[in-house]
Amino acid sequence: MRKKIVAGNWKMNLDYNEGLALFSEVTNMVKDEATGTQQVVVCSPFIHLHSLVQLAKGYSNIAVGAQNAHQAESGAFTGEISAKQIKSVGAEYVILGHSERRQYFGETNELLAKKTDTALANGLKPIFCIGETLQEREADTHFGIIKAQLEEGIFHLDADKFAQLVIAYEPVWAIGTGVTATSAQAQEIHEFIRKEIAAKYGQQVADDTTILYGGSCNPKNAAELFAQADIDGGLIGGASLKSRDFTDIVKAFN
Ligand code: 13P
Repeated sequence: MRKKIVAGNWKMNLDYNEGLALFSEVTNMVKDEATGTQQVVVCSPFIHLHSLVQLAKGYSNIAVGAQNAHQAESGAFTGEISAKQIKSVGAEYVILGHSERRQYFGETNELLAKKTDTALANGLKPIFCIGETLQEREADTHFGIIKAQLEEGIFHLDADKFAQLVIAYEPVWAIGTGVTATSAQAQEIHEFIRKEIAAKYGQQVADDTTILYGGSCNPKNAAELFAQADIDGGLIGGASLKSRDFTDIVKAFN
C-alpha cells in the first residue's frame, strides 16, 4: 500500500531557534496522529536539518527533508549544498522542482532530471513538484505541461529508482494565494498523473506512487482533498508554520 504523507515546506522562514521550537511542538502534537502507512515530513531550511533530525529520533512516522540540493556531487560551487551533505546529517527527503525554484532560480526540467539523479544516488527521496501556472491553465495547456514535466524531469528513471520518489502536484496559481484547487480539479490532475505513470511503468508502480497536493491547503479543505482516490496527502506551505494548523491537516487523514 502506498504511503500517505503530509509534508511541511517551511520555505525561507523561521530563524534557528524558532524552527526548533516549532518542530518540537509539531512532533509532540502529531506523534500519535500519523500511524501505519502515514508519515509526516518537515522540509526545513538547511540550517535546521541536523537539529531536527536529532529531535525526530524515536518518532518512526516523522521524517526531515531539505528544500533543494545541487546537481553536482561536490566541488567549487560557492554557497551551494549537495545531496550527499544533506544525507550526511540524516535527512531523508528533498523537495525538487518547487515552482519557486523553477520561477526565481530558472530551474528547468532538464536540470531537475540531473538533480533527481544526484539526490537518488545519494540515498535521498525526492519530493518532485510539478504544476501549471494560471496562464497555462487558462490556455488549456495544463495537461501537456504536466506531461512534459513528468517526461523530461523523472521518466528517464528506471522503475526501481522511480519507486523512491514522491510526486507533488502544486498548481502555481494556488500557492500562497488562498485559492485552493477544488477537490475535483486536484483529483482530475492526480488521476492523470497516475495514468501517465501506469503507461510508463505499469499499474503496480502507479498504484504504489504517493502523489501529494499542494497549494493553499489548510485545516478546512484538507479532509475533502485527502478523501479523493488519487490524493495521498499534502505539501503544505503557510499552514506548516503554525503547529495547530499543521496538526489539524495531519488529522485530516482520518
Ligand atoms: P501554501 O500552502 O502556502 O500555498 O504553499 C504551498 C507550497 O508551495 C508547498 O510547497
